[in-house]
Amino acid sequence: MVRAEEIGVMTAKRGATIVERSLAASTHEPVWVERFRTPVLDEDGTVLGVVGVSRDISTQKAAESAREAALAEAMRLAQLRSDFLARMSHELRTPLNAILGYAQILRQEQHLSERQTRGLAIIQSSGEHLLSLINDILDLARIDAGKLELVPTTVNLSTLLQPVADIIRVKAQEKALLFHYEEAVIPAAVQVDCTRLRQVLLNLLSNAIKFTDRGEISLRVQALPGPKTADSGSSVRLRFEVQDTGIGISEPELARIFQPFEQVGDAQRRREGSGLGLTISQEFIELMAGDIRVESQLGLGSRFSFELQLPLALDEAAEAPSEKHHAGYEGTRCSILIVDDAPENRVMLTDTLVPLGFEVFEARDGQEALARAQRCSPDLILMDVAMPVMDGLEATRRLRQLPAFAEVPIIAVSANATQQEATRCEDAGVDAFLAKPIVRDDLLQLIGKELGLCWVFEHAATVTDAVSDGLVIPPPEEMDLLHQLALEGNIRSIGRRAEYLASMDSRYAAFAAQLRSMASAYQSKAILSFVNRHRQAAV
Ligand code: ADP
Repeated sequence: MVRAEEIGVMTAKRGATIVERSLAASTHEPVWVERFRTPVLDEDGTVLGVVGVSRDISTQKAAESAREAALAEAMRLAQLRSDFLARMSHELRTPLNAILGYAQILRQEQHLSERQTRGLAIIQSSGEHLLSLINDILDLARIDAGKLELVPTTVNLSTLLQPVADIIRVKAQEKALLFHYEEAVIPAAVQVDCTRLRQVLLNLLSNAIKFTDRGEISLRVQALPGPKTADSGSSVRLRFEVQDTGIGISEPELARIFQPFEQVGDAQRRREGSGLGLTISQEFIELMAGDIRVESQLGLGSRFSFELQLPLALDEAAEAPSEKHHAGYEGTRCSILIVDDAPENRVMLTDTLVPLGFEVFEARDGQEALARAQRCSPDLILMDVAMPVMDGLEATRRLRQLPAFAEVPIIAVSANATQQEATRCEDAGVDAFLAKPIVRDDLLQLIGKELGLCWVFEHAATVTDAVSDGLVIPPPEEMDLLHQLALEGNIRSIGRRAEYLASMDSRYAAFAAQLRSMASAYQSKAILSFVNRHRQAAV
């Protein structure tokens, strides 16, 4: 008599059935066989025998391995896509850096013709538009990869919101829509990722304009009376609301609009967008611990809103609005080593720095930078990160090991504008991190901070710009010319002058838009009184 244990029924806990899967020997296709064996026991547990069933599971096995292969392939492709996007980000941002950088440099020139000024404004705005598209696609890739990050800084809320309102006011005027902007008792400065918050607001407001043909758009920002908690003195709850009187969204469509690439409504308006804006906006607001809500009624309009709990900050720390142009600095001449493999970037940086009085040296990669730095002893180094031969991180690490360069400020410049990249640079020993495309004022502000410079500013015309009825008024000579043209009833020239003003400086865009809309309606009397009224303010 054989006991059950003795024939190897090992899995009393899992039941006594044994399942085996094995590859059967076959001359043709591999055949997978699954065998079930189970002992037959009598009442006192004595094994009477074993019964078994075998079945061919080759098809199931083939499906399993096909699924595994498909999964591995999908992961490989996702990795490839991620690498491709990271590379493209770099490849696209690098030339854009040179384009936008030069547009900024040339716009500082004194004696530009009207055509040149307009051309440069177009280069800059088209470049910025292209950059925002690239950024949208990259943001989406980061969302996919779970790599989205926020970079909170101290921000003056009005400085953040006012330009958003100005841009939207102009867009609204172009569609003959009213625009209301209300700020209710908001604090001066908070900690927030201002680029992302601005991006979300501009996206919601641009949608409001796109999907509204008559009526009004409004942006409301208010501080909510939050619950009294231990930290309620150090943070504030803000509510942002964008409302329109547009086409609205139907109930079933509301559920879809936050999905990537989802667009609802008519085909003409769909063509103008990508269907990514709301997805990205929602992701940002969720990262800031908020949630975008939408209420809408078909034919009546929509209201998008979100609330954020933001840490309060001291106003002095907030970025000051940049209204002054750097013209030079006080004290002895400083030297800067520019390290970048792209010649156009080196030239662009040189052209930015030399007119301000810096002595400039150049190197094409990390290795050259090491040699150059030791020969020239620069006061500061601008170090590109991704370079052939030796990258900027390695060069920084090696420089830091040389006693003469242990303290020399190094600013890393990278097209990979992520927090991870900034951390990698910090770990290598850089003092500051700057994302490409380089914004001139940010670059100079950082250089000034690292070198302890006292800047000499040239006051731009905008510092003394007059403001009337919430519009920034062009300089007196422009107002005189407009007055003359209005007296002559020269509507066509007024229209052209309005376009010129808008391209000359975005601050005049709202003024120009009003002028243009009156010119296109041939309201010569209204133009004359409009110009007269605002001319007083420009003197
Ligand atoms: P798009 O680039 O198409 O604007 P979004 O993700 O920003 O992409 O918006 C997705 C869709 O949601 C839009 O195509 C539109 O159908 C709908 N939508 C967004 N905002 C509004 C609005 N204010 N009024 C009506 N429909 C809107």
